[in-house]
Amino acid sequence: MKKNGKNQFVYVLTCVDPANIDTLVKIFNHRFGKGNYFMPGELGGVKVLVDPAKKTDREFVLNKIKTSDRVHKIDLILLVNHSGCGAYRLAGHVFENKDEEESFHAGEMKKASTLLQKKFPDTKLETGYFLKKEQKMTW
Ligand SMILES: [Zn+2]
Repeated sequence: MKKNGKNQFVYVLTCVDPANIDTLVKIFNHRFGKGNYFMPGELGGVKVLVDPAKKTDREFVLNKIKTSDRVHKIDLILLVNHSGCGAYRLAGHVFENKDEEESFHAGEMKKASTLLQKKFPDTKLETGYFLKKEQKMTW
């Protein structure tokens, strides 16, 4: 994606689950171009913002985004959670079915978006949900 003749730069906040990484990299390389995004990876994706194990974890990630923005002006923050996430399971979240799980994550995305909008009012926000078993992104 181009803006003013240069590529937009993206910060991707997503889980580190190794089962997803190869596919996510392919999807993001295709969509944003290689080298046009940061994707440090956090256990549980937006869980680290919405429901961090320790409050300092949230600050740590917010500082990462802030620093990334200073290094390389971030145009878009993309939030991606995924189905079958172990970090959520560990925190006691059990889902009856796919719909329940997906709607729970939609709520998580909303909470994370609200928080990030306050911290980064000039940065665009997008959310996505990755289906681990199907290896597919739902935007
Ligand atoms: Zn995960």
